[in-house]
Amino acid sequence: MADLLAGKTALILGVANKWSLAYAIAQAFVREGGKLILTYQGERQKATVQELGQELSPDTEVLACDVTIQQELDNVVNTLRAGHAKLDVIVHSIAFANREDLSRPFVETSRDGYLLAQEVSAYSLVAVARAFAPLMTDGGSILTLSYLGAVRVIPNYNVMGVAKAALEASVRYLAHDLGPVNIRVNAISAGPVKTASARAVKDFSKMLDGVAANAPLRRNADPAEVADTAVFLASNLGRGVTGNVIYVDAGFQIMGLPTAAQEQSHDR
Ligand code: NAP
Repeated sequence: MADLLAGKTALILGVANKWSLAYAIAQAFVREGGKLILTYQGERQKATVQELGQELSPDTEVLACDVTIQQELDNVVNTLRAGHAKLDVIVHSIAFANREDLSRPFVETSRDGYLLAQEVSAYSLVAVARAFAPLMTDGGSILTLSYLGAVRVIPNYNVMGVAKAALEASVRYLAHDLGPVNIRVNAISAGPVKTASARAVKDFSKMLDGVAANAPLRRNADPAEVADTAVFLASNLGRGVTGNVIYVDAGFQIMGLPTAAQEQSHDR
């Protein structure tokens, strides 16, 4: 691979472990010569993320940032300013909803559960863009991770689908606001991948099986494929792309009827 991100610094929020989509993205960014700043949520995660950061690249910086606490966002900004850091890329790979809201009918979602999912999974992109865009003094690329549940009903995805709809709309409004300072804002809508967050969705393995059986490529997307699309969006190759949602899902999103159903009707 070429050094597509040489000389660029990327702030990546959402590395929890080696299965995190953000970790795959961090690996691809290092491969392309990018410098990393990782964040973690809460002391409990500090040592793990520091260790992962060191493994990825010895010059990785690791900072605390719970996106629901404005003071923590401000602290990261102040630390980066003090070190005269300029950001080129921001990866927002964060979501959370109460487990019970990802298993019972959507109609039973509580007010608190709805607002929590919106705050962590959608508003946080706005908070992050607001806080860090001033450090992107040469322009740059902000990207977030979404899922098909934003635009179609995926059983059990529920309140998170509504949060992803708000996230994707936020991408468009942020792209409009930040375009004049040459900051691009996009989402990657990834197919299902077994991660800690994904396991909270009831019957998640059925989603994986459904994609493998019905997607045009007849398989699930790989985290490395999501990461390579992130490299494209973060690099100069993506310079004309903003306000977009790019699907990296083995093509599943184009299907109207399940492939299996079509094959059965051909057999008749
Ligand atoms: P993950 O490894 O569990 O990553 C989710 C991250 O969000 C974790 O690092 C988590 O930190 C962090 N987070 C949650 N609340 C936070 C807060 N208040 N402040 C800061 N960080 C917080 O799972 P993932 O699947 O890679 O998820 C990353 C993104 O990809 C999410 O937006 C998810 O919706 C999206 N996505 C995932 C899939 C999939 O199938 N896996 C598909 C499409 C899109 P802690 O672990 O410390 O709580």
